[in-house]
Amino acid sequence: MQRWELRDRKPVGQWSKGRVTLVGDAAHPTSPYAAYGAGMAIEDGYFLGRRLAGVDLSDHQAVRRALEEFEEPRKPHTARQVQQAYLLGQVFHHAPRPLRYVRDLVLDHTPLLQKVVGESSPGEIVKQIAEIDKAEQRFAAAVGGQG
Ligand SMILES: Cc1cc2nc3c(=O)[nH]c(=O)nc-3n(C[C@H](O)[C@H](O)[C@H](O)COP(=O)(O)OP(=O)(O)OC[C@H]3O[C@@H](n4cnc5c(N)ncnc54)[C@H](O)[C@@H]3O)c2cc1C
Repeated sequence: MQRWELRDRKPVGQWSKGRVTLVGDAAHPTSPYAAYGAGMAIEDGYFLGRRLAGVDLSDHQAVRRALEEFEEPRKPHTARQVQQAYLLGQVFHHAPRPLRYVRDLVLDHTPLLQKVVGESSPGEIVKQIAEIDKAEQRFAAAVGGQG
């Protein structure tokens, strides 16, 4: 048996400095209640790779700009998911004792959990696919432009 403490951290306002940036849990540590921390880490890798495609890595200004443009749209999305995971963890495991009965009634007999976790969160995640489509178009234009 091993005690494995989960810790939550408030979203950080800046991921990139100069030619260095953060991705995954280093940028937005996500408690397991989103079941999406690894998913967001993979997305970060994808968006970072696409944003750096075609950038001259010896051009420090261009790299810095690319990193800033990478993190800007990622921050609000990841912050929402991290916050929701935190809230779910609080509701599931840290509700004050007198409220637990009410919590269980609500979770067992109302569609609240389905609405929040089953519909709204996947909706937000699916929006990332639209972002991937846009990134692919920009990438195709950049590669086409080079050819
Ligand atoms: C119990 C639990 C359940 C989860 N369930 C899900 C799920 O169902 N779906 C989901 O999408 N996500 C889930 N997650 C979240 C997911 O595991 C993380 O968000 C994801 O692993 C983050 O990936 P990462 O690559 O950013 O960081 P990590 O996976 O933490 O990788 C960082 C790596 O860097 C290494 N490292 C650290 N310091 C150094 C150093 N100085 N030098 C070299 N290496 C170093 C570490 O050893 C580690 O291997 C869960 C998390 C937990 C704790």
